[in-house]
Amino acid sequence: MAVTEPAPVALPPAHEGILRRQALRESAARTYARSLPIVPVRARGMTIEGADGRRYLDCLSGAGTLALGHNHPVVLEAIRRVIDSGAPLHVLDLATPVKDAFTTELFATLPSELADNGRIQFCGPAGTDAVEAAFKLVRAATGRSELLAFTGAYHGMTAGALAASGGAPDVRVTRLPFPQDYRCPFGTGGERGERIAARWTEYLLDDPKGGVPAPAGMILEPVQGEGGVNPAPDGWLRRMREITRDRSIPLIADEVQTGVGRTGTFWAVEHSGVVPDVMVLSKAIGGSLPLAVIVYRSELDTWQPGAHAGTFRGNQLAMAAGAATLAYVRENRLAEHAATLGARMLARLRALGADHPSMGDVRGRGLMIGIELVDPEAAPTGTATDTGESRSVPPPDPVLAAAVQQECLRRGLIVELGGRHGAVVRLLPPLTLTDEQATAVVDRLADAMRAAERSPHRRAAAGPTR
Ligand code: PMP
Repeated sequence: MAVTEPAPVALPPAHEGILRRQALRESAARTYARSLPIVPVRARGMTIEGADGRRYLDCLSGAGTLALGHNHPVVLEAIRRVIDSGAPLHVLDLATPVKDAFTTELFATLPSELADNGRIQFCGPAGTDAVEAAFKLVRAATGRSELLAFTGAYHGMTAGALAASGGAPDVRVTRLPFPQDYRCPFGTGGERGERIAARWTEYLLDDPKGGVPAPAGMILEPVQGEGGVNPAPDGWLRRMREITRDRSIPLIADEVQTGVGRTGTFWAVEHSGVVPDVMVLSKAIGGSLPLAVIVYRSELDTWQPGAHAGTFRGNQLAMAAGAATLAYVRENRLAEHAATLGARMLARLRALGADHPSMGDVRGRGLMIGIELVDPEAAPTGTATDTGESRSVPPPDPVLAAAVQQECLRRGLIVELGGRHGAVVRLLPPLTLTDEQATAVVDRLADAMRAAERSPHRRAAAGPTR
């Protein structure tokens, strides 16, 4: 009897099943997975390959983690060496040769004032845990509890760190104005805006009736990342250093995202020459694996044993991958490379902006770049001042930003969104970026801009709610 072949069943591609199961099983709080519906299966350098066979240039880099891109050979080799050596992978916070080598390599990169007289605390493996550690440290050292943080800051998602980011009102954080040139809170921009921002901070701290008790510390990002790529002006940062030093307030620099060459210097505070009292470090220091530490002046080291504990403070693979990454960035001068290529990309993007009024502002430092998208046809925001220096700018356009992100993805480019309103397209390519890749990124982005501006989706969303 003849056997009839079953009719071929058209199965949905495997990646669709994975995405569907993710949507069914994972939390409503998932984030990147919503705007980037891809299933990475292979990655090398700047390229990610999805389960559907599509390839993408990755300008998200694990939210700024992958200084050397994906699976860099020196990182893989460092991880393999630890595995092959038979070293224990979990050691709490015990001393090991791997940790010793990591600490030596990290200290070699720090500003000498911290390297010569500094301490390190290994924290739980997320940046937010290191932020919490920094707060505990300065509270113990000063005997005070309040904190100073800035508008637009992002420091993490645990309760205390979230408070410093603007999310938990019951923790006492005084929020101070972070200077911004484009969307200046004082309507002036430029150096004048910086001076007013610094003056307000000083005034508030010195006003006995200002309602701000003596703080335990001030935390800031040298370039605000999630807040929309806002570089702190060097002069303003130096002023914050003076203000805090004069009042014995420890200055905490959150370099979780800006560190390891990202902004064009090894640590972003180097642009201004400021040496903070505490530095919070994570992301790139683990060479793509989870690691977070604080380094600080030894005078602050008055907290008690166990003041900041955690089971996962001894990730040997992350320390090995991190040490290899730090050494590679240092030896290959990748911070300088980031400065050069970043400046080139900024120039090209600004030139592109001349043809696109919806590219309201292009800003950044090194390979931390943001493009704020605006609606040029809507009424501008900002009011005139009597000095005539007022600046009014169009409102942000998060709908256009989301459309640009999707058009980028269609063109094989992964970008991130950030900023107060989610209207800033963020580029965080690896520091190993080549000239050709930089060109491809800008070309794809330009194409995506044109497509998104034409998209009917945008016009529909722009209706009566504006
Ligand atoms: N600080 C800064 C400046 C950050 O950018 C982030 C993460 N985006 C954090 C802290 C928190 O790090 P994590 O997500 O690892 O907790």
